[in-house]
Amino acid sequence: MVLRLKPLVATSACLVGELVRFDGGHRRSDPLTQHLNQRCDLLPYCPEVEMGMPVPRETIRIELADDGTPSLLGNRSETDFTPALHLLVATKLEAFATADVAGFVVKARSPSCALGSYPLEPAIDGLFTAAIRNRFPHLPMVDETALASKEQLLDFESEVFIAHFRAQALLDTLPDAPRARLKQALPDCMASRQALLDLLHSLPLDPENRPLLDSLLHRLEPQS
Ligand code: SF4
Repeated sequence: MVLRLKPLVATSACLVGELVRFDGGHRRSDPLTQHLNQRCDLLPYCPEVEMGMPVPRETIRIELADDGTPSLLGNRSETDFTPALHLLVATKLEAFATADVAGFVVKARSPSCALGSYPLEPAIDGLFTAAIRNRFPHLPMVDETALASKEQLLDFESEVFIAHFRAQALLDTLPDAPRARLKQALPDCMASRQALLDLLHSLPLDPENRPLLDSLLHRLEPQS
């Protein structure tokens, strides 16, 4: 297990300003790059670039066969990028698991990254996002349009912190009452390092997980 002070959030690379889009541009998200990055570490990825496509590149689309099987096809060349996608899925999702990723922020409407917003009838996930959801159904995921308000941002942060603590084997060791208290208190605590410290100090933990908590506290507390 990787011991992390801050949760790790994997995010479509164009949303953090990387110039990876088909047209060589980006779609930087201010909530992501000015707020969420203060309390979480970000792990950018671009499925299309990591599949070996250049920047700039032809646009791609999803096509569904009669049995519903999706393919990823080049709009100009009609190249079938589905095998490259499957290769990437096999390695990248394992890397997310090893890194203890605690949540995902993805780009809306993209054939690779969309979360239920790729414009077919009905709208579907982009194919890389579909693979992530299948592998990590328990982890929080939003697209950039769902971080527009302060409340939405806080909701997502709370879910990410809960997933983070669970991955760090803390949350599941708690009896029901303190676990409920932690969930309720997290949004406020995230605004204050001291409040988070106080809360962690107050948790009754399984003795075998005490070293993990002590290590987290050590990293949170100011070093003398
Ligand atoms: S939407 Fe996804 S595939 Fe497209 S540029 Fe952004 S990160 Fe890359």
